[in-house]
Amino acid sequence: MASPALSFEFFPPKTEDGRKSLQDTHRQLATLAPDFFSVTYGAGGSTRDGTRDVVLDIQKVSGNAAAHLSFGGNDDDQVRALLDTYREHGVKHIVALQGDADGGDTRHAEDLVRFIREHSGDNFKIHVAAYPETHPRAESPQSDLEFLRRKLDAGADDALTQFFYDIDAWRRFMDGCQKLGIRQPIRPGVMPIGDADGVRRFAERCGAKIPESLGRELDKRADDPEGLRAFADDFVAGLCRQLLEAGACGLHFYTLNRTQPTLEVWRRV
Ligand code: FAD
Repeated sequence: MASPALSFEFFPPKTEDGRKSLQDTHRQLATLAPDFFSVTYGAGGSTRDGTRDVVLDIQKVSGNAAAHLSFGGNDDDQVRALLDTYREHGVKHIVALQGDADGGDTRHAEDLVRFIREHSGDNFKIHVAAYPETHPRAESPQSDLEFLRRKLDAGADDALTQFFYDIDAWRRFMDGCQKLGIRQPIRPGVMPIGDADGVRRFAERCGAKIPESLGRELDKRADDPEGLRAFADDFVAGLCRQLLEAGACGLHFYTLNRTQPTLEVWRRV
């Protein structure tokens, strides 16, 4: 099997200690030679400066930062200014999103993809979001897939998915993409399980599912953190292997700014 493309997602830390610790995480994960490190963009533009600063830090050190971006909470001039800053610093990747904004902007990711192409031409590789278990606000799985195709056709290069733990959801989703003629690469999102409550909270917030059988195994180990971690690392590594065997072009890890869970899963893969 050819070596899969890897990418790692971070969020902008709120404190100076958090920023220093993220620099360590970045340095350690850089040894796995990922395509890019992406940095999330807070709902409603709440982390505009924090995201930009971390993106530029990463760009300076490893030259492969990806900036998440959404319209929410920004006016168009602010979005153009951010794009210009990123271009000036050699950033080559943007993850274009609607965002979970409460900023009152109802424009979709598709509109942002067009906006970026109009303003910045082909300077950026544009990644968009996809949902193997369907976006929570979608009218139906089919309409969600059709909107995914539209945002890819609007000029995105590929898609990164929400995390999921059910390989059958991925297979159904990829079948649907193929039937719609989607040809752009789709990279599955993987969330290592650091602790059971944390992953449940995250899943609920994102509309991702914890399959019942996985939930039962996590519950069984509620009082055994080491046993839980070993089980979870094996489980997630097994999912990664199934994804790669099913033809996934790479893996996008939600690292939560931590090194060990991602490194441990990758070592087992
Ligand atoms: P869209 O593609 O606009 O889709 C949103 C919903 O509208 C879907 O239900 C879709 O079916 C529907 N839709 C899409 N296009 C249209 C259209 N033209 N007309 C009508 N309906 C349409 N959130 C953040 O706040 N910050 C982040 O940094 C961030 N990073 C993420 C990274 C990844 C890889 C993923 C998978 C998600 C991320 N999110 C982030 C969450 C994401 O912003 C939310 O899920 C958001 O609600 C939808 O964003 P989207 O870009 O998928 O939106």
